[in-house]
Parts: sequence; structure tokens; C-alpha cells
Amino acid sequence: MYGDGVMKQLDENLSQLLKRPDLADQEAQDNTVPIEAETSRAPQPDIVTSDQLLRTVVENAPIILFTLDHAGIFTMCEGQGLQVLGLHSGELVGTSFFDFHKDTPNILNKFLHVLDGNATTSVNRFGDLYFTTLYLPLLDSNGSVSGVIGIASNITERVKAEQTFEVSERKVRTMIEQATDLILILQASGVFTYASPSHQRVIGYAPEDLIGKNVFDFIHPDDKKRVHIAWAGAFEAADETAENIVTIECRLRHANGSWITIEAIARNCLDDPDIQGFIINAHDVSERFVVQEQLRYQLLHDNLTDLPNRTLLLDILDRFIEDGAKTKKEFALIVLDLNGFRDINDTFGYAEGDRLLSDAACRLRQAISDSSTIARLGGDEFAIMLPTESAEMLTERLTALSTILEEPFIIEGHALHIDANMGISLYPTHGDDPTTLLRRADVAMFAAKRSHRPFVYYESGHDQDTAQRLELISGLRHAVLANEFMLYYQPKAQTSTGIIHSVEALIRWQHPARGLIFPDSFIPLAEQTGFITALTLWAVERAMKQYKDWQAKGIELEIAVNLSMWDLHDVSFPAKVAALFERYDVPTYRIRMEVTESSAMADPGLTISVLKRLTALGISCSIDDFGTGYSSLTYITRLPIDELKIDRTFIQHIIDTPADEAIVRSTITMAHSLGLHVVAEGVEDASTLELLDRLGCDIAQGYYLSRPLPPEDFVRWLQVKERSFAAC
Ligand code: C2E
Ligand code: CA
Ligand code: CA
Repeated sequence: MYGDGVMKQLDENLSQLLKRPDLADQEAQDNTVPIEAETSRAPQPDIVTSDQLLRTVVENAPIILFTLDHAGIFTMCEGQGLQVLGLHSGELVGTSFFDFHKDTPNILNKFLHVLDGNATTSVNRFGDLYFTTLYLPLLDSNGSVSGVIGIASNITERVKAEQTFEVSERKVRTMIEQATDLILILQASGVFTYASPSHQRVIGYAPEDLIGKNVFDFIHPDDKKRVHIAWAGAFEAADETAENIVTIECRLRHANGSWITIEAIARNCLDDPDIQGFIINAHDVSERFVVQEQLRYQLLHDNLTDLPNRTLLLDILDRFIEDGAKTKKEFALIVLDLNGFRDINDTFGYAEGDRLLSDAACRLRQAISDSSTIARLGGDEFAIMLPTESAEMLTERLTALSTILEEPFIIEGHALHIDANMGISLYPTHGDDPTTLLRRADVAMFAAKRSHRPFVYYESGHDQDTAQRLELISGLRHAVLANEFMLYYQPKAQTSTGIIHSVEALIRWQHPARGLIFPDSFIPLAEQTGFITALTLWAVERAMKQYKDWQAKGIELEIAVNLSMWDLHDVSFPAKVAALFERYDVPTYRIRMEVTESSAMADPGLTISVLKRLTALGISCSIDDFGTGYSSLTYITRLPIDELKIDRTFIQHIIDTPADEAIVRSTITMAHSLGLHVVAEGVEDASTLELLDRLGCDIAQGYYLSRPLPPEDFVRWLQVKERSFAAC
């Protein structure tokens, strides 16, 4: 018998296939439903019923349901149909499908055809038994083919009926009249010339009602094209071996108007003078069809939101493009990514995160028209296909999508705001195949994120950006270990005397292939990937080591480090900084922290609490890039800061721009009245420095004094400077 491990594996496979909530993998994957989420979903009676039906069919119908991995090894094998083969559930798991099908011709090619994403069928013989098997690709959560699903049913009776056809006419007639399967003869045009009595029971028509009618009038419109193709193939199938039988699956209209699914085996007997047509042997496989449809549905939809998944989206786009080639229909493909979702997952847990995603999906569905399609690509990423009748309509829809997410989401009683970035690619302008359009919309979405815009249309320059971006992202973590980051130091001088009391530490990345990279190129990436908090701590630690090093050489300077908005959102940041101070034994007042005005404004409450904890340690804090944000004076007064750095855009043209001079003058007055020191950034010449001195600015920083320098160069610069002071 089997070990526990095998049984567990079987159970897992089956539960994954059947999506049994009691057995489903509880590790919440992006598109699997955790147990809690299942209860919060809108009721979906169809799915639940089909699920139960699926299980009942597998346990009771004479079929075999199995899955294979890429190498053709059985990973699951279940079903009542195993009994006739003398096998038990799961007995084949771990064995090779090919060993089991030694006598089935062409089986390897069929297997490879399914791994290529196609469905196919085969008729297999095991001794006296015949099975017909339908193979479907098994897709993983990314929509990639991870193996094969097979549904086999026993057709021995039918094949044997055919083989004994010539035994005796009386016997044959009796057999046909008693047969539960449909036996019929069709002319080459599809007209019935014979129908067995079983038609009355299976499709509700008496044989005499069918004779002279064309079978195509009974076939479901969606299946007609496929049947025509198979029918054409049947003209060529003159070989009478069981393996070359042409099988067709289609839906037939029952006399009561419903549709039943039949599987038919057609034998070409056009040359037989008694028949002059096709002998068809068919049976009702509606139950199996339900199983198949259920599987297909699960493979093509996201469990959590019930939206189409990436595979189905690509298929829908494909069909739309095929139609569009004739009708010249255009559409926009939007990739929409929610901002801040990760924080909600981290703070409130996966169940609440899932609830938010379902809620967001419902809202997005409301904001689009019926002719549009919305899919979940995974995580917090959605894709929307919008037919574009006009540019105005598209803008209207994009605005509607942004607006619908503006309403706060209520999570555990908290009203949370989530916004989104959208990237848009247009068919046919930006590509004429689904994969290119999706990739380009994705690239544009990242461009929207980088530029903090709600939506961005694809531009060819974005591709280049993306390749470099990915390369840099993958290099970031490695760069810390490989010691590729460095701090450069730029002096901050007293405007009136030129004396240097402090420096600003500015990070650089000495990239092995791309040379020196400036922070503007990688800090945003570090912020997007969450790596920034580690990078800030690295910079703080590096600055402390530098302080100790200089202190040992008799140089006493305050070192300012730049913080990111994400450091202000990390409540553990002050404690981590405190631990570093202790470890390096650096006086806390020797390290300053610069926070940009816009970072501070992103969440004023949080900023105040984190800065208060830092200042409580004795650290001084500055507001950086002042003037570029929208902070109010009242807000500035609430921050525990002692320095305000005026952004260089106000300083660089101050000499010939009276408006800038007026702004700088009033900022200095205001800051002084609040007891803050003022630093002017971006001082590039002597006349600017003189003017700032006259305006009462306390400290100046800029290329005029020195560019940011590596520590050794900075020390040399400082020594020259001190010598010139001494000479005065
Ligand atoms: P920032 O904090 O405003 O730093 C001043 C930037 O202005 C520096 O650019 C500096 O080289 C440049 N600069 C200084 N004087 C002049 C001048 O006279 N003229 C002009 N045109 N520019 C001048 P850098 O080093 O490229 O840094 C850019 C930004 O990157 C910094 O702006 C800061 O926001 C960020 N950054 C740098 N290092 C770090 C870091 O360790 N952590 C974080 N989170 N951000 C950092
Ligand atoms: Ca700064
Ligand atoms: Ca600045």
C-alpha cells in the first residue's frame, strides 16, 4: 500500500485541482484564496455547485482524472474508471505516463503538443480495454504550463460494438437497438440516413424525426466551426484501426431546447456500398463536460476576485485583435498597480489585504463599461482592456478609474486611502500582439510610479529605462555586500566667516560596469523595492565610522545624513539608529538628519512622531529642499527641527531674479523668527554668496565652496582651506 506521503501528495493534488477549501494550500499565494477570504467573497452558487459536482463525478463516473508533470510523471491519478484496469487511486503517482502507454502510438508528440498549450485527445488500448483521453495544459499561478491534465473514459463497449459489427445482422440490429450510445449513419453532407432508437432517450428525437435532417442543424453554433474541421479530417481517415478513429466532441440541441454534450467517433465508410456515409458512435458526456468546463474556468480565473487571469486576458486580447484586423477596432490596455497595498498586508494581515483587493476589483468593474475586460495579473496589479471610441472617452474612463479608488477603504474600522498608477499602451499604435501590449503597459505603469503621475502612456524610451532599472534593482542588494556604495562629503560653510562646522554625506554607487552612479538614479529604485531602509542604515553607520575616523585625526565635524520618506514610516527606525550610536560611541549631536519637505508632508503625523523620537536621542534634524513642497508655516512650527535648507532652485538664479530674492529674504526672516538656522543650497558663485550673507543667511552649501568629495579628497580640501584661513 502507499505511504502517508504519497497519500498526502494525492490529496494535495486533488484539492488543488478541485480547489477544496478544506484542503487548499493555506500559504496565501497571490491568486489562491486563503480560507478566511473564502468566507468574505460574494456568494457564487454556480461555482460551489460545480465544485461538488466535479468531486461527485470523479468519485462515481467511470472516468480517470490525472495530472502529469513536465517529465510525464503522474502527480495525481483518481477516479472510479481505474477499477477496470485493476488499479487503485494514486497507484500510478510517481510512475511514468510513457511506461504506462507503451502501446499508444504518437503519445510523446501529443504530450509535447499539450505542453505547448494545446488541448488534444487520444484513444489508448490496454489489453482488451479502450480508453479515450482528453488532455489539457495544467497552468500554474503565472499562467505558465506546468504539466498536463488528463480525463480518460472507458469506451471499450463502443469499440467492441464496432468490431463485432459484422458478426450477424440480427445480432447487430439487436445490439444497436439495445445500445445506450447513439449509433447513426450520416451522408457526406451530414444528413441522417440512420439513427438508433437511443436517440429518443438521449436527445429527445425519435429516429424517424431525424432521418433526412442535417446533423449540423442540431450542433451548437459555437461548436460548428470545430466540427466542420474534424468532419473534413474524417474524409481522410480511411484507416480502420481504433487508433485512427476521428473523435469529435460537441453540443447537440435536445428536443427540449437544452444542450447536451456528446463525444462521437466517426468512421469513414463512404466506400462501403451498403453505407455510403459515416458510421458514428456517440455518447452523452455532459457530466464530463461540466468537469472540463469547471477545470477550464479555474485555470482561467483568479480565485480571489473571480476576474479573468493573465492567460484568459491574453486570449481575449488575441480574439479582439483578430476581430479588430477586420473591423479596425482600437483599444487601450491599462496596467493598474495599487500603491501602499503591501503596507496594508503587513499591518492588517493577508485576510484584510485580500478583502481590500476584492473590494478594489468590484470598484474597478463598476468603473468600466460592459465592452471592457478587467483581469487580475497577480498581487495588487490589474489589467483593463478598454475599447477606445475617442481620446476624450478614454480620458474620461481613466479619470473614472482613478476616482473610484479615491473613496477610502474601510479596514478594521480605519478609513485607508489607496491610490493607483496606470500605464497605458494603445492597440495598434504601441503593438499588435497581446504580449507586447501588456509588457508596454507594464513599462508605462512603472514610469507612472517613478514620476508620481496617476497615468502615463507608453513611450519607446520607457523600454530602455526598464532594462536599466531591472539591472540596477538586481544589483542593489549585492552592492552593499560588495562594498560598492560610498559617501561623498560636501561642506556647509558659515556664510559670514567661511568656517566649516558641518558636512552633508551624499551617497554614490561605484558600479563595477557602469562607473559612478548618482543617487537620483538609484534612490527611487531603492524606495520602490523597500531596500531604502537598509540603505539609510548603511549610510548612518558609514557616517558614524567616518566621524570616528576624522575624530582620530583631530577633525571635529557634524555629519548630515539624508533620510527617505520610508524611514519616516518605519517606526523601528529611531531604535535602530540608537543602537548604532551605542555601538560606535558617537555623540548623538554630531549626526544630523535631513528630511525633505515633501517626505515630511507625506504623513505629517508620523513624521512628527519619528522626528521627535530622533531628537529625543539628541540628534538634530533639518528640513531639506524647502520651498518645493507645500508645507504651511504652522506645520513647520510643529516639527522638532532646528535647520531649514532652502532648495537650490531659489538660490541658483537669485542674482537676476527679484522674485527669488524676495522669497529667500522672507524665508530667512520667517525661519529666524521660528529660531531656525537657514542653509542656502546650490551656491555656485561669489556674488550669490555675498548676497546671501547680506540677506542674513546663516550657512551656504554649493559647488562654489566645493563639490561633494570622497573622504580623503575632502580632508585635503579642508587642510588647504584651513591653511588659507591661517594665512589671512
Ligand atoms: P540633496 O539632499 O538636496 O543633496 C544636494 C544635492 O545637490 C547633491 O546632489 C549635491 O551634489 C547637489 N549640489 C550641491 N551643491 C550644488 C551646486 O552648487 N549646484 C548644483 N547644481 N548642485 C549642487 P546629489 O549628491 O546628486 O544628491 C541628489 C539627491 O539624492 C540629494 O539631494 C538627496 O535627496 C539624495 N541623496 C543623496 N544621498 C542620499 C542618501 O544617503 N540617502 C537618501 N535617502 N537620499 C540621498
Ligand atoms: Ca540633503
Ligand atoms: Ca537639498
